[in-house]
Amino acid sequence: MPLLTIRGLNKYYGNFKALDELELTVNANEIYGFIGKNGAGKTTTLNVLMQLSFYESGTITFDGKTLNKDDYTFKKMVAYMPDVPSFPPYLKGREILELTAEFCGYDSKKTLEKIHELKDSIGLLRLNQKVGTYSRGMVQRLALANALMQEPRLIIMDEPTSALDPIGRRAFLTIIKSVAKETSVLYSTHILSEAEAICDRVGLIEQGRMLKEGPVSQVIAPAIDTTYIIDTLHLERIKDMLTDQTWIKAIAQKEKHLEVTLTDATPAKLFSALASVDEKITAVYEKVPSLEDAFVEVLNENTL
Ligand code: ATP
Repeated sequence: MPLLTIRGLNKYYGNFKALDELELTVNANEIYGFIGKNGAGKTTTLNVLMQLSFYESGTITFDGKTLNKDDYTFKKMVAYMPDVPSFPPYLKGREILELTAEFCGYDSKKTLEKIHELKDSIGLLRLNQKVGTYSRGMVQRLALANALMQEPRLIIMDEPTSALDPIGRRAFLTIIKSVAKETSVLYSTHILSEAEAICDRVGLIEQGRMLKEGPVSQVIAPAIDTTYIIDTLHLERIKDMLTDQTWIKAIAQKEKHLEVTLTDATPAKLFSALASVDEKITAVYEKVPSLEDAFVEVLNENTL
């Protein structure tokens, strides 16, 4: 069921059209990956959503209610996490969360309960130490806890792992996946492997337009031709044998294997052709396309 819907959103910076009839739908209780190259329009979209930036036209609907440009009730239901969160370094982690709880109007019992709950679910450590002593990974966890403290219907995250090392990144993704059971997440990133790992659905944006949107498997599958990897020591010989077959769309010779793209998804003709050669073939298997492959393919289709 749709939680957030954007329809026909247009946004200019002077004469430059940054968002061009943008369409986007985030469903309830899903992690939505908002994907695009640098400069595609992700931050602009998030700024418009957070009412930090004006837009010329379009409609934004949240939980069935169309938002007016000057209606700030939306902000009470949505939490925002920037790429590099910053807190006053002289405050303790616990004090940051208590301030947010006060802002939300919680009494001391609820504040204590929420801090305990978040401490466990997010793995918050050293809440009684000043934030200035925290590592980047700890600051990021605190920012997520601070967002969840608000009990939002939706958390908007703008490239939240960009400042983390690979270990911190992996740990943080695991936490997002676990907390997303109770809230929806709009996860903006240009790291496609992350989106593939944690997102239920993705939207690919380019030049302010939504190119493709849907479940990860659907976005990947139709965009990519079926390709088989052939592992063999006789690359030239096998390649020569396959070249000019009408059922082959392309053959790429890599250092240690061939990549054969078929005109349709059935490999029967490929297998029977390979069965007829004398040279040893070590393995033949389907190449599993990644979201990155799909993204490049969709970009090529739309920009060539
Ligand atoms: P990144 O991943 O690099 O943050 P992005 O997808 O978030 O990129 P935006 O920051 O939304 O992209 O930028 C979209 C386009 O709008 C870019 O071409 C950018 O140069 C332009 N732009 C962004 N902010 C402004 C501004 N304040 N004034 C003029 N142009 C802007």
